[in-house]
Amino acid sequence: MTRTVPLAAEVRRATDTLAQVGIASPEIDAVALAAHVLGCRPEEIRRRMILQAAVEDAICERFRELVQERANRVPLQHLTGQAHFRRLTLRVGPGVFVPRPETEVVAGAAIDAAAQWQSPLVADLCTGSGAIALAVKDEVPQARVVGVELDGLAFEWARANRDATGLDVELVLGDAKTALRDLDGLVDVVVSNPPYIPTGMVPVDPEVRDHDPELALYGGSEDGLRIPEQVAARAAALLHPGGVLVMEHADTHGEQLPRRLERAGEWTDVVGHRDLTGRPRFVTARRR
Ligand code: GLN
Repeated sequence: MTRTVPLAAEVRRATDTLAQVGIASPEIDAVALAAHVLGCRPEEIRRRMILQAAVEDAICERFRELVQERANRVPLQHLTGQAHFRRLTLRVGPGVFVPRPETEVVAGAAIDAAAQWQSPLVADLCTGSGAIALAVKDEVPQARVVGVELDGLAFEWARANRDATGLDVELVLGDAKTALRDLDGLVDVVVSNPPYIPTGMVPVDPEVRDHDPELALYGGSEDGLRIPEQVAARAAALLHPGGVLVMEHADTHGEQLPRRLERAGEWTDVVGHRDLTGRPRFVTARRR
């Protein structure tokens, strides 16, 4: 006979393990890992816990292994292989930046901007997993969307996500600072979540520090603004007059980046925006 154990007790034990090492959302992570192992949705795990369902010991072994990895601060999304971004479920893992909830708001601003045109041309510079580019195409289907990524591994994840979602986005392997010259002056919306962490400010969370690619994190200068400014300069060339830039930044850049864009002379209507937690998170500007 196969040995079974109560699911609820297993998930509770996992929650305690994750809480002890300081994971911010131990119960959500434990349930998500159980759902991954059992091949169902988190709601179904919660339902089975209430119904005092049991699971096979062998399956629990796999669950315990994953909980241990999570306790060692491997990102939840690397263990499940999935990240949720707006309406999409994306594939992620080693070699690609895990899309963040705050970037969903940035993508939303690009979507709203794109919706002003009948058949907009949208460029996502530093697309990583393809999250923003794919979300724009998903929510503005009449848009032509091009995503640019510098890193070969990340580019493969973007391709996998395009194939998995079936969203018709063009992907270009290249440097956002120089890419898409054939589209100069033609683009309606440029959106970007560039690397922007100041070089000296190594992130505290091991999930970020040890698992997100460095190329996706650091902004290339002490203030973290070197790459964002280079990307903005490229955006200025890509956009036609009246075209819109939407760019994510660090919560410490809420004053600086808008001021630099204003000083660059290429932009009007420079506006700072906050994310859902109220932190300064992105800037929008219109090409003069
Ligand atoms: N937002 C990232 C973080 O929270 C920083 C780099 C980026 O998104 N461009 O770690």
